[in-house]
Amino acid sequence: MAEVTLRKIVKSYGALEVVHGIDLDIAHNEFVVLVGPSGCGKSTTLRMIAGLEEVSGGEIAIGGRVVNTLPPRARNISMVFQNYALYPHMTVRENLGFSLKIAGRPPAEIDKATDEAAAILGLADYMDRTPGELSGGQRQRVAMGRAIVRHPDVFLFDEPLSNLDAKLRTQMRVEIKKLHQKVKTTIVYVTHDQVEAMTLADRIVIMKDGHIVQTGTPLEVFERPANTFVATFIGSPP
Ligand code: ADP
Ligand code: MG
Repeated sequence: MAEVTLRKIVKSYGALEVVHGIDLDIAHNEFVVLVGPSGCGKSTTLRMIAGLEEVSGGEIAIGGRVVNTLPPRARNISMVFQNYALYPHMTVRENLGFSLKIAGRPPAEIDKATDEAAAILGLADYMDRTPGELSGGQRQRVAMGRAIVRHPDVFLFDEPLSNLDAKLRTQMRVEIKKLHQKVKTTIVYVTHDQVEAMTLADRIVIMKDGHIVQTGTPLEVFERPANTFVATFIGSPP
Protein backbone atom coordinates (compact mmCIF):
# COMPACT_ATOMS: atom_id res chain seq x y z
CA MET A 1 0.00 0.00 0.00
CA ALA A 2 1.22 3.48 -0.81
CA GLU A 3 2.16 5.76 2.07
CA VAL A 4 1.09 8.91 0.24
CA THR A 5 -1.54 8.90 -2.50
CA LEU A 6 -2.53 11.83 -4.67
CA ARG A 7 -5.69 11.36 -6.75
CA LYS A 8 -6.55 13.96 -9.38
CA ILE A 9 -5.18 16.79 -7.26
CA VAL A 10 -6.15 20.23 -8.51
CA LYS A 11 -5.19 23.64 -7.16
CA SER A 12 -6.66 26.94 -8.27
CA TYR A 13 -5.99 30.42 -7.03
CA GLY A 14 -9.17 32.26 -7.94
CA ALA A 15 -9.79 31.61 -11.63
CA LEU A 16 -6.20 30.46 -12.21
CA GLU A 17 -5.63 26.70 -12.09
CA VAL A 18 -1.95 25.97 -11.34
CA VAL A 19 -2.02 22.22 -10.58
CA HIS A 20 -4.07 20.26 -13.08
CA GLY A 21 -5.09 16.87 -11.68
CA ILE A 22 -1.98 15.14 -10.39
CA ASP A 23 -1.93 11.38 -9.70
CA LEU A 24 0.95 9.96 -7.68
CA ASP A 25 1.56 7.00 -5.37
CA ILE A 26 4.53 7.19 -3.01
CA ALA A 27 5.59 3.94 -1.34
CA HIS A 28 6.56 3.49 2.31
CA ASN A 29 10.23 4.52 2.78
CA GLU A 30 10.50 5.75 -0.77
CA PHE A 31 12.55 8.88 -1.52
CA VAL A 32 10.63 10.76 -4.20
CA VAL A 33 11.88 14.00 -5.70
CA LEU A 34 9.54 16.42 -7.46
CA VAL A 35 11.62 18.39 -9.93
CA GLY A 36 10.83 20.94 -12.60
CA PRO A 37 11.32 24.55 -13.62
CA SER A 38 10.36 27.41 -11.34
CA GLY A 39 6.60 27.98 -11.21
CA CYS A 40 5.59 24.46 -12.34
CA GLY A 41 3.67 23.73 -9.12
CA LYS A 42 6.14 21.77 -6.97
CA SER A 43 5.77 23.82 -3.78
CA THR A 44 2.02 24.05 -4.19
CA THR A 45 1.80 20.27 -4.48
CA LEU A 46 4.01 19.75 -1.43
CA ARG A 47 2.06 22.31 0.58
CA MET A 48 -1.18 20.50 -0.24
CA ILE A 49 0.34 17.24 1.05
CA ALA A 50 1.40 19.12 4.19
CA GLY A 51 -2.03 20.66 4.66
CA LEU A 52 -0.68 24.20 4.33
CA GLU A 53 -2.83 24.70 1.22
CA GLU A 54 -6.31 23.33 0.67
CA VAL A 55 -6.84 21.21 -2.42
CA SER A 56 -9.31 22.62 -4.93
CA GLY A 57 -10.14 19.11 -6.14
CA GLY A 58 -9.10 15.49 -5.72
CA GLU A 59 -8.02 13.46 -2.74
CA ILE A 60 -4.86 13.12 -0.67
CA ALA A 61 -4.32 10.08 1.55
CA ILE A 62 -1.45 9.52 4.00
CA GLY A 63 -1.05 6.09 5.58
CA GLY A 64 -4.32 4.98 3.99
CA ARG A 65 -6.31 7.80 5.58
CA VAL A 66 -7.86 10.62 3.56
CA VAL A 67 -6.40 13.82 5.02
CA ASN A 68 -8.08 16.50 2.86
CA THR A 69 -9.75 18.19 5.82
CA LEU A 70 -7.07 17.49 8.45
CA PRO A 71 -4.79 20.30 9.67
CA PRO A 72 -1.00 19.85 9.25
CA ARG A 73 -0.43 18.72 12.85
CA ALA A 74 -2.87 15.82 12.42
CA ARG A 75 -1.13 14.45 9.31
CA ASN A 76 2.01 12.97 10.88
CA ILE A 77 4.29 14.84 8.51
CA SER A 78 7.29 17.10 9.12
CA MET A 79 8.37 19.79 6.72
CA VAL A 80 11.79 21.38 6.17
CA PHE A 81 11.77 24.65 4.24
CA GLN A 82 14.41 26.62 2.39
CA ASN A 83 14.27 29.42 4.93
CA TYR A 84 14.72 27.30 8.01
CA ALA A 85 13.75 29.56 10.88
CA LEU A 86 15.52 28.47 14.06
CA TYR A 87 14.74 30.25 17.31
CA PRO A 88 17.78 32.52 17.71
CA HIS A 89 17.60 32.85 21.50
CA MET A 90 17.31 29.10 22.13
CA THR A 91 20.10 26.54 22.27
CA VAL A 92 20.32 23.71 19.77
CA ARG A 93 18.84 21.35 22.38
CA GLU A 94 15.92 23.70 22.99
CA ASN A 95 15.38 24.20 19.27
CA LEU A 96 15.32 20.44 18.72
CA GLY A 97 12.91 19.77 21.56
CA PHE A 98 10.59 22.72 21.12
CA SER A 99 7.82 21.02 19.13
CA LEU A 100 7.69 18.17 21.66
CA LYS A 101 7.62 20.64 24.51
CA ILE A 102 4.65 22.55 23.16
CA ALA A 103 2.96 19.19 22.54
CA GLY A 104 3.26 18.66 26.31
CA ARG A 105 5.61 15.64 26.17
CA PRO A 106 7.46 14.73 29.38
CA PRO A 107 11.05 16.07 29.74
CA ALA A 108 12.61 12.58 29.76
CA GLU A 109 10.99 11.76 26.43
CA ILE A 110 12.08 15.10 24.98
CA ASP A 111 15.69 14.49 26.09
CA LYS A 112 15.72 11.01 24.58
CA ALA A 113 14.30 12.21 21.25
CA THR A 114 16.66 15.20 21.01
CA ASP A 115 19.70 13.06 21.90
CA GLU A 116 18.75 10.56 19.21
CA ALA A 117 18.30 13.28 16.61
CA ALA A 118 21.60 14.91 17.63
CA ALA A 119 23.43 11.59 17.28
CA ILE A 120 21.99 10.93 13.83
CA LEU A 121 22.87 14.41 12.60
CA GLY A 122 26.22 14.85 14.33
CA LEU A 123 25.04 17.67 16.59
CA ALA A 124 25.93 16.19 19.98
CA ASP A 125 28.85 18.60 20.50
CA TYR A 126 26.76 21.69 19.72
CA MET A 127 23.74 21.17 21.94
CA ASP A 128 24.41 24.20 24.15
CA ARG A 129 25.15 26.63 21.34
CA THR A 130 22.66 29.08 19.89
CA PRO A 131 22.02 29.26 16.11
CA GLY A 132 24.20 32.37 15.82
CA GLU A 133 27.19 30.28 16.93
CA LEU A 134 26.68 27.65 14.21
CA SER A 135 27.79 27.36 10.58
CA GLY A 136 25.20 27.28 7.79
CA GLY A 137 25.49 23.51 7.50
CA GLN A 138 25.07 23.00 11.23
CA ARG A 139 22.00 25.21 11.23
CA GLN A 140 20.55 23.18 8.39
CA ARG A 141 21.17 20.01 10.41
CA VAL A 142 19.32 21.50 13.36
CA ALA A 143 16.41 22.27 11.05
CA MET A 144 16.39 18.63 9.95
CA GLY A 145 16.75 17.49 13.55
CA ARG A 146 13.67 19.45 14.49
CA ALA A 147 11.77 17.57 11.83
CA ILE A 148 12.96 14.10 12.87
CA VAL A 149 12.39 14.38 16.64
CA ARG A 150 8.70 14.01 15.98
CA HIS A 151 9.18 10.67 14.20
CA PRO A 152 6.93 11.64 11.32
CA ASP A 153 5.71 9.03 8.84
CA VAL A 154 6.51 11.41 6.00
CA PHE A 155 9.18 14.10 5.58
CA LEU A 156 8.51 16.96 3.21
CA PHE A 157 11.43 19.05 1.98
CA ASP A 158 11.04 22.21 -0.10
CA GLU A 159 14.35 23.30 -1.64
CA PRO A 160 16.11 22.85 1.72
CA LEU A 161 19.57 23.42 0.29
CA SER A 162 19.06 26.32 -2.08
CA ASN A 163 20.39 28.94 0.37
CA LEU A 164 23.69 27.10 0.88
CA ASP A 165 26.89 27.52 -1.10
CA ALA A 166 27.81 24.88 -3.66
CA LYS A 167 30.24 22.94 -1.49
CA LEU A 168 27.90 22.76 1.48
CA ARG A 169 25.05 21.79 -0.80
CA THR A 170 26.99 18.75 -1.99
CA GLN A 171 27.82 17.80 1.61
CA MET A 172 24.23 18.18 2.74
CA ARG A 173 22.99 16.00 -0.13
CA VAL A 174 25.09 13.20 1.26
CA GLU A 175 23.77 13.91 4.77
CA ILE A 176 20.16 13.80 3.62
CA LYS A 177 20.75 10.52 1.79
CA LYS A 178 22.37 9.07 4.93
CA LEU A 179 19.50 10.36 7.04
CA HIS A 180 17.05 8.51 4.81
CA GLN A 181 19.05 5.29 5.17
CA LYS A 182 19.29 5.63 8.95
CA VAL A 183 15.82 6.81 9.81
CA LYS A 184 13.91 4.78 7.20
CA THR A 185 11.21 7.21 6.37
CA THR A 186 9.17 8.32 3.40
CA ILE A 187 10.50 11.51 1.83
CA VAL A 188 8.93 13.87 -0.68
CA TYR A 189 11.58 16.36 -1.73
CA VAL A 190 11.12 19.38 -3.98
CA THR A 191 13.92 20.96 -5.98
CA HIS A 192 14.46 22.77 -9.26
CA ASP A 193 18.01 21.34 -9.36
CA GLN A 194 18.31 18.37 -11.72
CA VAL A 195 21.59 17.14 -10.24
CA GLU A 196 20.15 17.18 -6.74
CA ALA A 197 17.11 15.26 -7.97
CA MET A 198 19.19 12.65 -9.80
CA THR A 199 21.52 12.04 -6.84
CA LEU A 200 18.89 11.86 -4.10
CA ALA A 201 15.87 10.18 -5.61
CA ASP A 202 14.73 6.59 -5.59
CA ARG A 203 12.16 7.90 -8.01
CA ILE A 204 11.98 11.21 -9.76
CA VAL A 205 8.79 12.99 -10.74
CA ILE A 206 9.24 15.59 -13.43
CA MET A 207 6.71 18.42 -13.48
CA LYS A 208 5.94 21.08 -16.04
CA ASP A 209 3.13 23.68 -16.03
CA GLY A 210 1.16 21.98 -13.24
CA HIS A 211 1.35 18.48 -14.77
CA ILE A 212 3.52 15.44 -14.17
CA VAL A 213 5.33 14.72 -17.42
CA GLN A 214 7.31 11.64 -16.36
CA THR A 215 8.11 9.49 -13.34
CA GLY A 216 10.81 6.85 -13.06
CA THR A 217 14.14 6.03 -11.48
CA PRO A 218 16.83 8.60 -12.29
CA LEU A 219 18.39 6.12 -14.71
CA GLU A 220 15.10 5.38 -16.50
CA VAL A 221 14.37 9.07 -16.92
CA PHE A 222 17.89 9.79 -18.09
CA GLU A 223 18.02 6.92 -20.57
CA ARG A 224 14.42 7.08 -21.78
CA PRO A 225 13.13 10.65 -21.44
CA ALA A 226 9.42 10.82 -22.30
CA ASN A 227 9.81 13.85 -24.55
CA THR A 228 12.22 16.57 -25.59
CA PHE A 229 11.31 18.73 -22.59
CA VAL A 230 12.48 15.99 -20.20
CA ALA A 231 15.55 15.23 -22.30
CA THR A 232 16.58 18.87 -22.32
CA PHE A 233 15.75 19.42 -18.66
CA ILE A 234 17.62 16.33 -17.46
CA GLY A 235 20.42 16.72 -19.97
CA SER A 236 20.03 13.32 -21.57
CA PRO A 237 22.35 12.67 -24.51
CA PRO A 238 20.58 13.17 -27.87
P1 ADP B 1 7.35 25.98 -7.90
O1 ADP B 1 7.46 25.59 -6.46
O2 ADP B 1 7.40 24.81 -8.83
O3 ADP B 1 8.34 27.03 -8.30
P2 ADP B 1 4.76 27.03 -7.11
O4 ADP B 1 4.04 25.80 -6.67
O5 ADP B 1 5.32 27.91 -6.07
O6 ADP B 1 5.89 26.61 -8.15
O7 ADP B 1 3.80 27.91 -7.99
C1 ADP B 1 3.03 27.36 -9.07
C2 ADP B 1 2.21 28.47 -9.71
O8 ADP B 1 1.24 28.93 -8.78
C3 ADP B 1 3.04 29.70 -10.09
O9 ADP B 1 2.55 30.18 -11.32
C4 ADP B 1 2.78 30.67 -8.96
O10 ADP B 1 2.88 31.99 -9.42
C5 ADP B 1 1.34 30.34 -8.59
N1 ADP B 1 1.07 30.61 -7.17
C6 ADP B 1 1.68 30.04 -6.10
N2 ADP B 1 1.17 30.49 -4.94
C7 ADP B 1 0.21 31.37 -5.28
C8 ADP B 1 -0.72 32.19 -4.54
N3 ADP B 1 -0.74 32.18 -3.20
N4 ADP B 1 -1.59 32.96 -5.24
C9 ADP B 1 -1.59 32.96 -6.59
N5 ADP B 1 -0.76 32.22 -7.36
C10 ADP B 1 0.12 31.44 -6.72
MG1 MG C 1 8.82 26.28 -4.99
